[in-house]
Formats: sequence, structure tokens, C-alpha cells
Amino acid sequence: MVNSSFKNQITSNLGSLHPRQRAWVEINRSAIEFNTRVLHKLIAPTSQLMAVVKADGYGHGALNAAESAQAGGASSYGVATLQEGVQLRQGGIQAPILVLGNLIQSEELRACHHWRLMPTISTIREALICETLGSGSGRIMPLHLKLDTGMTRLGVNWKEGSRIAKALSELKGIKIAGIYSHLAMADVSNKVETFTHLQKQRFLEVLNNLDNQNMNFGYRHLANSAGTLHDSGLHFDMVRVGLALYGQVPSSKLTSITNLKPALQLRARVTLIREVPSGVGVSYGHGHTTSIPSRLAVISIGYADGIPRVLSGQMQALFKGQRLQQVGKITMDQLILDCTSVKSLTVGSIVTLLGKSGKHQINTFDWSEKCNTIPWEILCGFKHRLPRLVLNTND
Ligand SMILES: *Cc1c(COP(=O)(O)O)cnc(C)c1O
Repeated sequence: MVNSSFKNQITSNLGSLHPRQRAWVEINRSAIEFNTRVLHKLIAPTSQLMAVVKADGYGHGALNAAESAQAGGASSYGVATLQEGVQLRQGGIQAPILVLGNLIQSEELRACHHWRLMPTISTIREALICETLGSGSGRIMPLHLKLDTGMTRLGVNWKEGSRIAKALSELKGIKIAGIYSHLAMADVSNKVETFTHLQKQRFLEVLNNLDNQNMNFGYRHLANSAGTLHDSGLHFDMVRVGLALYGQVPSSKLTSITNLKPALQLRARVTLIREVPSGVGVSYGHGHTTSIPSRLAVISIGYADGIPRVLSGQMQALFKGQRLQQVGKITMDQLILDCTSVKSLTVGSIVTLLGKSGKHQINTFDWSEKCNTIPWEILCGFKHRLPRLVLNTND
């Protein structure tokens, strides 16, 4: 017979299972605040820091990221979509918010105006919609004009920049609160100097042209994280920082600023330990065969949580300062670690898949370089199934 108090305990706990039950992401808000402060000190006192919190704050939670960045000195926010901007406003964020993506319908731009979000403008067409909204509401609609200086994505061609800026400045219902461009090569180490320099020259040419006509166009901004970290000549009036806020760097080659703290740790529990002889095939397809009698640990996390399956056999986990090799194919919900030499690992032990343990650290670029992708994609890849545990620690 089931003990009734045990049964009650199970039932009452079902709705609120402990977040550290299986696998989870730890978000350290103090690290985001710390990184923002480091970056803020790096830029000139006349430059401002826009915290880019798109894609749910690069997987860290948009509000967590926004609030922590504000505490560290950020004065505005960048989001990709209208919904992301509205979410910040509903969460109580008051500071200026720029929508970096392209809004094309009047309904979207109307909502943008309603929520006091600034759109990015790449064509006269959308500027005219804003003009109607601004004039109609009696409240001028601020916006940022984007120039394409070589990214070939959003923005008006830089050669048209001053002509279009001038045309916009004549519209009564809108105000150019900023003019900006985006770097295409700032994180490609061997191309940084040449192409980034060309983009800066094109940007400056438009700005000088407008200066000569005494036009006011608000904040001038160009740099993303890589641009901000590598060249103060790219800072202008504001920098738009995403990746670095979260304490991440684009690649192992660009670890110049080493005092940034990764704000995200990925951890999971051991659910089973098994002893197997040599010559045993492990996981789907038996991609791994033990070469000696081995001790294997099953971890309750898999590709459905956001661990790329292509890392199979190529990733490691940390436990009390020791490295454990992952073996066999990563499956949807589980993966296997070889713990033959780590006897202290037991059922229920917590291992670190990304982040720090003792002297060791596993970075997002350690994964991305093996997956032929970039840290940004790794961070955005963690699924909703993984609880986010928000911490405030200084270590
Ligand atoms: C995402 C984004 C950024 C931030 O880039 P990071 O490299 O993550 O710092 C800056 N500007 C624009 C336009 C963006 O879309």
C-alpha cells in the first residue's frame, strides 16, 4: 500500500518540481551587470551603451538581461521584433527601445508608436507610414535611419544616405533619433582592418555630408560587440552590444578581453551509472565501442534540449574540476559520459556541460567551432524544456 503522506507529497510537488531536477540553464544576472560595466568603462564617456536583448536576451531571458544591463550602465535596448519590444515594455522597461528588424505594415508601425518603440527605417515607404502616424497622433514618432555600408542586408544604400536623411528631415510627424549602420566583418579577424575600415569611411562620408548641411540626426552608431571590443574609433555616440554582454566572445581567436564573465552555465544530472566490459557498443548505431572495461554515466539532457547532435563524441563535461569525455551518439533526451577514471561521480551528481567547474571552463565557441557554427546560434538554441534558473552571484 502506498503511504498516504508520501502520495500527498508527490502530488503536491508535481506542479513545482525543483528546477535542478534534471537539466537546466543557470543565468547569472550579476555577470551580465558586471560585463555591461566593463564595456561601459571601455567606451568614451560621451558614448552610450545599447544592450541588445533580442532573441530572449540571447537565451538568457530578455527581462533578466535588460534589467541587469541597466544596472551596469546600459541606457537603451535593441530588439529584433515588435513582440520583443512590447514584452520589455510590459515588463516595466522605460528606457528607449530600438527595433532592429524591418517593420513593413502600418499596423506594426502603429503598435510600435503606441508602445514607444523606435523602428529602424530602410526605405521612404515606411518613413511615410510613420509620418502619417506621427502627424495623426499629434506625437512625433522618433525613428532610426539605417544605412547599408557593406553588410547588404537592411538599410538604404549609403550613397543615397544623405539624400534620404534630408528627405526624412522635412517630414513633420517624425524625428530622426539616430542614424546607423551594421558591420559585416568585425568578427572575422583577418578582414577586420580592411573591410571594417571601408564601412566606417562610408558611414563617415554620409555623416559629414549631413553635418555640412547642419542637419541633426541624433545618435550615430556602428559597432556591435566585436567592433566595440576591437576599435574605439568605431564607438561614435553609441555602441550596440549583444554577445559581449553575456560574457561570450565570437571565437577562440578573439579572446582579447578576458575579464568578461560568461553569464550562462548548462548543467545536468547523472541518472544512471553502468559498468560494462570492453568491446561493448554504446548508443544508437554503436558509434562508440568501449576499448577497456568502462564505467559509463547516463546524463538526462539531449538534442531536444538544444545540444547539437553533431557534437556526438566531440564534447566533454566537467565534474569537480575533471573532464569527462562524452561517448556515442547524443540522443534526444540523453547522452553518455565515460567516467571510468572518475569514481566519485554517482547517480544524482551534477555535471557542467557549458561554463565553469574548478579551473576548467567550456565556452560556447568550444562547441560552435566543432559544429561549424557560431556562439550566437548555440546560445539561441536552448529549448523551453530547459528551465532557466536565475542567480545573482559574484563568483
Ligand atoms: C544583433 C545585432 C547587434 C548585436 O550584435 P553582437 O555581435 O551580438 O554584439 C548589433 N546590431 C544589430 C543591427 C544587430 O542585429
